[in-house]
Order: sequence, then structure tokens, then C-alpha cells
Amino acid sequence: MPTAGGLYRAVERGEAIGCDAIQIFTRNPNQWESKPLTDADIQRFADALAKSRVRAVVAHDAYLINLAAPDRTVLKKSLIAFQDEIERCHLLGIPHLVTHMGSHMEAGEDKGLRRLSDSIAKVIGKTAKSSVRVLIETTAGQGTGLGYRFEHLRTVMDNVNQPERLGVCLDTCHIFAAGYNLRTQYAYRKTMRKFGEIVGVNNLFCIHANDAKKLFGSRVDRHAHIGEGEIGADAFRFLVNDRRFRNTPILLETPEAEAMHPVNLRKLRGMIRRTRGTV
Ligand SMILES: [Zn+2]
Repeated sequence: MPTAGGLYRAVERGEAIGCDAIQIFTRNPNQWESKPLTDADIQRFADALAKSRVRAVVAHDAYLINLAAPDRTVLKKSLIAFQDEIERCHLLGIPHLVTHMGSHMEAGEDKGLRRLSDSIAKVIGKTAKSSVRVLIETTAGQGTGLGYRFEHLRTVMDNVNQPERLGVCLDTCHIFAAGYNLRTQYAYRKTMRKFGEIVGVNNLFCIHANDAKKLFGSRVDRHAHIGEGEIGADAFRFLVNDRRFRNTPILLETPEAEAMHPVNLRKLRGMIRRTRGTV
């Protein structure tokens, strides 16, 4: 949800189109520096949330952050910015912060995963008073990006070894582009079984529901409207009716937010099967 005009505006915008979960940037995602939150910002955000039907808020970190960067200057900036992200979530009462797994920049995947794990562990250690949980997101595996195999997430979770502070976000477009099929019931079940075995469903705290503009296994990350991409509507029907994810926030990151989020939201809600006897 766009935050123009103040963070609380994202809550109001979400409320206006009927969201019960929203995702926001708590700072400009294209800048290293952030403007400190004022007490008024925090209060207005809390008030808007208390008044609304929005039950879950997830924050997404800035695009510049690369916690696996081999370049020391970039890594240092990333660590500072990431700590700021966690502190902002803490102040705003946002329990979950999604981050991309970063890029190893030709240093190799093993080194990249090691550096990423060390970075996350360091920042979690520096924010020990906070209960904000970092969610590492599955990725499409563009360029030297990490996180396109479920095993990458498992490695970082094992290395960091802080289960109360670390979880996972699953993005349908990203895993599909990375080569995990979702198109048929058989493929969906197989992918989710694998996810459960390697990552664990209890470590999943939010889902990004995006269709994919690029082909299966292309490792290119381009989001499409629900049912209009290469994944297709069936996968989303399986997802919204998957009882394991009943209490998991499902978030849209599809294009043209303002015009199309209501449309995509309606599509997803329309796919939920109403079984007799349940409300
Ligand atoms: Zn995503």
C-alpha cells in the first residue's frame, strides 16, 4: 500500500478497498537514509490501525539493502539501514519485516549465504530488545540473487538459529520463476510438500500472491495480475483454499496498485470455497 502523505495513509487506503492485511515500506525504499519517525507519525499509525479492519501489517525493507554484499561499503550501509528497518517496525508495532536474501555478486552462493546469515544474526543481536521477526523471502534467482532454492532459506535459518526472530515469506511469482511449479493440483501439492519438508510451514508468516509475466523456470521476476500470467488462476484457487494458510496474511504485489488491487483482491476472495457449516 502506498504511504504517500504518511504511513497511516496506507492503513486508510487498505481499509478503503477492503484489505484485512497490508504491506508497506516504512521508509523510502530507494534511499539509504531515512527520516526518523516522530511520535506523531507513530501515534497516527496506531490510531488508524485501531480504527480499521486491517489485522495484519507487514513491512518490506528497502531495495538497496544487500545483506550478502561482498563489498564492505555496501555491506556496512546495508547493516545500518536494516537495523533502522527493524527499529522502525518495533516503534510502529509491526511484527514482521520481509527482506530479500541479497546477491552474492559473483562471490559464490556458499559465501553469499554465509555472509547473509552473519548479517542477519548481527542485526538481530543488535536489536535484541525487539521482537520484530525478519522474514527472508523466496526469490526468482535473477543474476546472482540468493534464495531461489528452498535449501538456501533452510541454510540461513540453521546458521542464524534464532527461530523467534526469523521466518519466511513465500512469493508465488518468485518460486514459479525459480522452477517450482504451481499450475496443477499435482504440481502445487508437490511444491508445497517440498516447501514444508525443507523450510517448514510453521516458519511461514506471509505469502506474496503474484502471477508471473515470465515463463516457468525463467528466473526472471516480473509480477502479473492474478490469473493473467504464466501461473494462471488455478494455483491461486489452491492457495486461498489451503487450510494450512488460513491464518497467513496473503499480500498482493501486482502492478498498478491503485487501479488494480481492488480487482485482484476481488478475484482472490471470489476463489475461496465456502463449505457448508463454516462462515
Ligand atoms: Zn514478493
